[in-house]
Amino acid sequence: MNLADTEIVLGILNKSGYSPTQAIDEADVVLLNTCSVREHAEEKIHQRLNVIRKQMAEKPELVVGVLGCMAERLRSSLMQRHNVDIVVGPDEYRKLPDLVDGAFTGSQGIGVRLSRTETYDDVTPFRSEGISAWISVMRGCDKFCTFCIVPFTRGRERSRTLTSVVAEVEQLVKQGFREITLLGQNVNSYIDSGHDFADLLSAVADVDPGLRVRFTTSHPQDLSDKLIDSIAAHDNLCNYIHLPVQSGSTRVLEAMNRTYTREHYLALVSKIRSRIPGVALSTDIISGFPTESEGEHKETLSLMEEVRYDGAYMFKYSPREGTPAYRLGDDIPEEVKARRLSEIISLQQKISGEVNESLVGNTMNVMVDGPSKKSELQMSGRTDTNKTVVFQAGQYKPGDLVLVKVERATSATLFGQVVGSLS
Ligand code: SAH
Ligand code: SF4
Repeated sequence: MNLADTEIVLGILNKSGYSPTQAIDEADVVLLNTCSVREHAEEKIHQRLNVIRKQMAEKPELVVGVLGCMAERLRSSLMQRHNVDIVVGPDEYRKLPDLVDGAFTGSQGIGVRLSRTETYDDVTPFRSEGISAWISVMRGCDKFCTFCIVPFTRGRERSRTLTSVVAEVEQLVKQGFREITLLGQNVNSYIDSGHDFADLLSAVADVDPGLRVRFTTSHPQDLSDKLIDSIAAHDNLCNYIHLPVQSGSTRVLEAMNRTYTREHYLALVSKIRSRIPGVALSTDIISGFPTESEGEHKETLSLMEEVRYDGAYMFKYSPREGTPAYRLGDDIPEEVKARRLSEIISLQQKISGEVNESLVGNTMNVMVDGPSKKSELQMSGRTDTNKTVVFQAGQYKPGDLVLVKVERATSATLFGQVVGSLS
């Protein structure tokens, strides 16, 4: 989401004559786009700002700004703590050109109003070259999970129009993009004059049958049958759903205000698996939510065993001031949280390894990403189900589709031989 927002910011600034540089010592303006979802993410930004402040001492005219959720949450206190020039939250990026210009003449600027309508529908994001592009189709979140700061830093839900998203996808296809990911905090809340997310997804898939279409994130409460049917009906809608569960205990889910039970979640998984054969599922899990008992933690482990996720993003609970869970206190000791998290991580690694191992011998349709990270002699790509596949390098370019026979697997990667090409 933040990478997509950064492309919007670059789009806005580019129109005003600014261009990006990768080298910080060449920069006249340094903007940090930030995340508040966990304490750790914020800590990293405070450290980075301390480093940048030293650079500012050598180059006093350097303009420094903080964007995104930390700007929204901490507001002018960021100016006091780090002496930055600009603080701009997620809904006020259109003000950036004026605020940056002002900062060059010495004035500090702040823009942290949340909007009920801003979607940056008409802004062309400044994307780097490649084969994959993100499109934010809705902003904000109205779910108010009790642990989460996002509804406070990103404001209320609102959607872009279906026609503007489809037009953007058509343009991206013309530019050579081969994979599109539609983004939202909860894409199931997408709504544009009667069109829901399943309608949007189908419309995007119909732009070009050769385009791979992904989306994230779906909330388990309102993932509709219609959405499942759309995925099943379109070959180019990837058979991969990120479906954050957070906990395997109904009591904890209730305390988290997730609005579904363990049973509802498991029934949803069965339904998805029966209608989309071969679908890959991933999830998010929080360990050590306030009041979580040892038995409830074990329920999370047993749910993972039951679902057998292809992958998971796993976190220690981090108290966020202003959220309802914050008022419950942070009563699970750090070492208990850490131990529970490491049990969750090792179980998931074991399951991912077994799931990947079961694919050995299969031939998979892989979209080439480029040279592999580890060796020039190898290339890597991804399956429809978003698994990384490494194979011997050949005359393939990013975006090509090849058939790879899987020969071995680890919990993170499949390895194989190209046995055919689809491009
Ligand atoms: N809208 C997405 C999630 C956005 S935040 C969704 O609902 O799926 C991404 C993930 O961060 C969440 O799914 C959750 O697992 C984790 N997260 C959010 N707040 C957290 C907190 N206070 N402590 C630990 N993890 C948190
Ligand atoms: Fe946060 Fe819940 Fe909204 Fe996701 S759905 S952004 S976890 S409040």
